Formats: sequence, structure tokens, C-alpha cells
Amino acid sequence: MKSDKKIVLSESEIPRQWYNIQADMPCKLEPPLHPTTKRPVTPEDLSPIFPLELIKQEASVERWIDIPQEIIDKYRIWRPTPVIRAYELEKALDTPAKIYYKYEGASPAGSHKANTSVPQAYYNKTAGIKRLATETGAGQWGSALSLACSFYDMECTVYMVKISYNQKPYRRSFMQIYGAEVIASPSDRTQAGRDMLALDPDSLGSLGLAISEAVEDASSRPDTNYALGSVLNHVILHQTVIGLETQKQLEKVGEYPDVVVGCCGGGSNFAGLAFPFLKDKFTGTNIRAVAVEPTACPTLTRGVFAYDYGDLGKLTPITKMYTLGHNFMPPGIHAGGLRYHGESPLVSQLYHNGFIEAQAYHQTEVFEAAVLFAKSEGIIPAPESSHAIKGAIVEALKAKEEGRSKTILFCLSGHGHFDMTAYDNYISGKMEVPGDEQPLQANMISLPEI
Ligand SMILES: *Cc1c(COP(=O)(O)O)cnc(C)c1O
Repeated sequence: MKSDKKIVLSESEIPRQWYNIQADMPCKLEPPLHPTTKRPVTPEDLSPIFPLELIKQEASVERWIDIPQEIIDKYRIWRPTPVIRAYELEKALDTPAKIYYKYEGASPAGSHKANTSVPQAYYNKTAGIKRLATETGAGQWGSALSLACSFYDMECTVYMVKISYNQKPYRRSFMQIYGAEVIASPSDRTQAGRDMLALDPDSLGSLGLAISEAVEDASSRPDTNYALGSVLNHVILHQTVIGLETQKQLEKVGEYPDVVVGCCGGGSNFAGLAFPFLKDKFTGTNIRAVAVEPTACPTLTRGVFAYDYGDLGKLTPITKMYTLGHNFMPPGIHAGGLRYHGESPLVSQLYHNGFIEAQAYHQTEVFEAAVLFAKSEGIIPAPESSHAIKGAIVEALKAKEEGRSKTILFCLSGHGHFDMTAYDNYISGKMEVPGDEQPLQANMISLPEI
């Protein structure tokens, strides 16, 4: 008989601590800089928009950080998530490789983002904050934060990138069910939004601009903080529950991956799965970690490693990361969660030092992979997650070519139930090929002077 299809853990096996890779990475991060003074950011600089506990986590070099029981109690609603052996996909590919995936679409918000929205809301609540402002691209982060705010009885305002606001009306309803206020960005609520509307009244927005709006909102009100769904060190810390659980699950069936694959927007689901395994790599274990991005927003594969702003309005700290420039406006591809100009500083540094590989794929080949996965494994994946599926398929076909087995693990970061417009376009042959063929030259990337 085949070994298990679905590898599950009991609630008591939910990790009690997050793993902080800053304790173990061989090259330390360069300090984030203040956007106007350009001097290293201090905790006081961040306190108008973040609670102290998260500021401490951002800079911590402690290896293990305790997860408060109140957070674990919320995690229990959907964690531990299953690890699933993709037997049917293996068969469809006729590959000798074993393919496993960690399914994060099992959360009420439909993606891995609830792993950090819950702790972020919790730490803000305990710091006396009443309201959170944030941005959302595809809608998953806004959904996850709306859910977490309703858990902790907080208000939530979400600046939603206009293209998604128009394409995904049900995402908006989803957030409103939890009581959130959802505003299309650019909006006239902030200076950053008004500036963009004056420049281009038809602007479809970008994540970088929506971040500016949310940060401006949060800094202008004492009862309000800001929450970011990816990129930052504390976000990635919270996401390590993904990899820590997976390690226990694979251990149960006597497996260890040769390669770990994740899609990469700001880097949080990829890092959440991969970082606990990189801990082993630092001490000599042979494992590859592959980050997959769209060719339309090729931050790692074609960006530069430099200090840049996290947002269009230059309100966020300047961090050393792979970037396409803070004013890069990606084409309107359907993987909205992967349309960010920057990348997590942690993922960037580790990529720069050769611990991580990166690949980029076109939208149409990614949807082809998504449909093959849906037909074989049954789950309709989010367009973002489908980049990881594509990456895993490429690895599996390589194994077939080489005629040897290998164990592939990828993160299925979310389901695609709110992405039917995208699937509809694909099925009816109307999917636009985004203008990602123009040469993207390093000297066209606009960066701050340091
Ligand atoms: C937001 C999102 C992503 C991209 O964000 P990361 O921080 O890179 O993980 C990927 N998949 C899904 C389902 C998302 O919601």
C-alpha cells in the first residue's frame, strides 16, 4: 500500500515557538534607514505605527521566540495544516519524484496570511491600539487582517489596490463581513492618494502606493497602528509555523526534502516554509530552496540588491533588498500578491549569499500548471501559489529527465476561490500576456541616494 496521502498532526503539536533565522544566518542584515534622515531606524521611529513587541521581534536575534497561548488558541482554528502527497500530480507528470505540499489554504482567510495577522492584531490589542490600517493587493492580506481584527474586537481599514477592488468584488464583501472598512486605492483619504489621482485619475494603483496610504492613515491617528502582511522580519518570523510543522510531518513518514519551493511576493510564505530547513542547510545539510516569481514582476531574478523605499510615497524605512525600484508599476497580472517591487530583506540577503535560488515564469504557463494541479489533486490554487506549483513541476520533470527520484516540497499558500475572473480569462483564451518583455535595465530602476 502507498504511504499516507495526508500527513496530519494533532493540535498539541502546533509549534510553541517561532524560529528566528536572524540568530543563525551567516551574513547579518544591514540596518534599515530612516526615510528622511537616512540614519539607522530606532525603535522610537517605529513606535508611532507598530507596537513594542513587534518592534522587538523585528530586531531580535534570539533563535526561538515563544508564541503566546492566546495566539495558539486562535491558530487551533486551522492549524496544524496538512501536508499532502501529490500522488495524482506525480502520476500525471510520470515522474519518479515524490511531491509533497503544505496546504495553507485551510485557514478561514484562505491563505497563510492569517498566521501573522492574528499575532499582529494580538500584540496591537495588548498595547491598547483600537484600530489597524493596512493595504491589500489581491485581497488576501486584507481578508486575513479583517478576520484577526474581528477576533480581537478591533477596527480595521483596508486600502485595496484599485485593480483588485474592481476585479474581486467578493474579496471586498469577505472583509466587510468581518466588519472592515474597504477603500479603493488611490483614494482621496490621504495625501499620497490625492497626489496620485492628480497625476493620473485612472490609476489602477499599486501595492507600493496603497502602503503609503495606510502608513499615512496610521501615523495621523494615535489610536491607529499599521500592519504589513509580508516583507518584514516579524511577519516572516510568524510564518515559520509553516516550516516547523512540515518538518514534524515529514519526519513522521521518514522523509526529508531535496528541494523546497515557494512562490515569492514579499517572501513570507516561501520563507515561512523554507527558513526552518535553511537552519539545517547552515550546518551542512544538502537542501535547495527555490523562490518562484512572475516574469512580470521579477524582483529577485532581475532586480538589484540595494537600499530602497518600501512604498511609492517614501514614508517607510529604506531597507537593503532586491528591488525593481519603488516607483515600479507592474502590469496587471492576476497574481496580485506577487506584484510588489521589493522583497523581504531576509530573503534578499540569503539569496544574495547563495542560500536561495530564484526562478521566474510567465502567467500563462503558471495557469497551465494550476489547471493541471486542480484536475489531478482537486484543489483550485491561488494564482500566486500556482507559481510554486509550476516550480515544483519543473523540478519533477527534471528528475524524470535525469531518471532519478527526489523529494520535492512546496507551499500551497492559498486556494483560488476568489480568482474565478482570472481562471475565466485563462479558460476562454482571453488571458492577456502582460508587457513583461521590455528589457528591464538596472539603470532604469530608481533608488534613493544614501
Ligand atoms: C500574499 C500571498 C502571497 C505572496 O506573499 P508572500 O509574502 O510572498 O507569501 C502568496 N500566496 C498567497 C495565497 C498570498 O495570499
